[in-house]
Amino acid sequence: MAANVTAPPFRVIPIIPAILPGAMEGLKPFVASDKIQEALGFPGELVEDWHDRAIAKMGELLTKYRSLKVYLDACVHCGACSDKCHYFLGTRDPKNMPVARQDLMRSVYRRYFTLPGKFFPKLVGARNLTREVLDEWYSYFHQCSECRRCSVFCPYGIDTAEITMAAREILDSVGYGQKYSNEIIGKVHKIGNNLGLPGPALEDTLAGLEEDVKEASGSDVRFPLDVKGAQVLLITPSADFFAEPHIDSLIGYAKVFHAAGISWTLSSMASEAGNFGLFIGNYEQMRKVALRIRQAALELGVKRIVVGECGHAWRVAYSFWNTLTGIGDGASDPFALQLQRQLDHRYRQPSHICELTWDLIERKAITLDPDANDHLVVTFHDSCNVARGSRMGEMPGGQFEIPRAIIRASANHYVEMQDATTREKTFCCGGGGGLLTDDLMDLRVKGALPRMEALKEVVDRDGVNFMATICAICKTQFSKVMPYYGYNMRMVGGVHQLVSNAIRLGD
Ligand code: SF4
Ligand code: SF4
Repeated sequence: MAANVTAPPFRVIPIIPAILPGAMEGLKPFVASDKIQEALGFPGELVEDWHDRAIAKMGELLTKYRSLKVYLDACVHCGACSDKCHYFLGTRDPKNMPVARQDLMRSVYRRYFTLPGKFFPKLVGARNLTREVLDEWYSYFHQCSECRRCSVFCPYGIDTAEITMAAREILDSVGYGQKYSNEIIGKVHKIGNNLGLPGPALEDTLAGLEEDVKEASGSDVRFPLDVKGAQVLLITPSADFFAEPHIDSLIGYAKVFHAAGISWTLSSMASEAGNFGLFIGNYEQMRKVALRIRQAALELGVKRIVVGECGHAWRVAYSFWNTLTGIGDGASDPFALQLQRQLDHRYRQPSHICELTWDLIERKAITLDPDANDHLVVTFHDSCNVARGSRMGEMPGGQFEIPRAIIRASANHYVEMQDATTREKTFCCGGGGGLLTDDLMDLRVKGALPRMEALKEVVDRDGVNFMATICAICKTQFSKVMPYYGYNMRMVGGVHQLVSNAIRLGD
């Protein structure tokens, strides 16, 4: 734990905190170096004519994304969103109220793109884009995890996440990018995953896992890599390959494939489900990252593409892969059409690993023994990108019910956290949206407070000792911040970690 970061005290839900102006003033992540910026085709440092370029970029985005213009025009400052952001609830900084965050851009939009703002700026709260304002953008648009919780409560559905993404895209375009996200995107372009883990190292890791699982279970569970002709290509976050508790879910997926007799493979070229292009709001970067997956799928000749436990990756896969890559209907370039012909359309393309596992459970194609998890009292943390940016299965709300159904099939003791903090109203873990970096640890610890408060209730009342989730960022974030709140980092883990404990192999 960082010595200079302390967790705020617990409160009783519902909470409307007193404001603390300036509480997070100046907090910002490290700025990307010229090398990192230029690798993505962005200017290496803040360009001399940044003002004009930023306004021009803003104009371009307002034309390209009509939603952005609508969001900037439509807000009536009703305040319904103001106490809904976990970063406001945790930091009490009024600039972390969603409406105030939007106003950082809205004020500039009014000044340059509306008549009243051009002629009577003071009357309509319009501001020039000064260097001070640009720095304020860099700071507060990196205190938003793009979780979309505020949009659930807005009567107009204004999505602050889209405004944050636009701000970050403008910042990148003038050479003022964020180190953490941009460095990671560069690694994916070069090596294939966020960690920069090369193919041979991945092969070694998977071979080691096969030995470990054989020793623990007695079964020859395989972790295949680059197998041509496999039925399923699994695209999973690279954290699954080495970090706790992520790796336990990877073992769970492998056991599911093994028990159901499904041939599957991982890919050394596309060894990353995460797509940080979403976080920086850049469609081209998002497409470039996603195209590695299409190339791997075509080369391996797979029939089905399945995504592992990663929240924003599933949002990108569910909402964007169709037009980005042709996985799902949408794109019409020759490679997309080739992939469409190759994939087996009796299955949803792409599928989430939870959809695959739940289907097998329902068809009794795999057997689970929930008694194996009797040492656990489990609750479930809905991850924001799954909850508010995707679906699963045939039914509305499948993204909420399917993971819960798998947990209930895998464990006998399950309890829910407060309704106001779950499903579509779930709180972000505090580390999403490109903020999972140690230079933002103070923000991450405070942003986790609303989830920790909801967790505390079920720990105290029901003895919960395990919080399952289906997101790699949530797992990493909670493992890191839970000790600040007095909880063991091992209290968090994946849904397929529970499946791994419960699944019966070989019978
Ligand atoms: S999108 Fe999430 S993090 Fe951003 S302002 Fe809204 S609630 Fe806060
Ligand atoms: S809830 Fe919507 S309309 Fe109301 S202040 Fe927030 S963004 Fe504006």
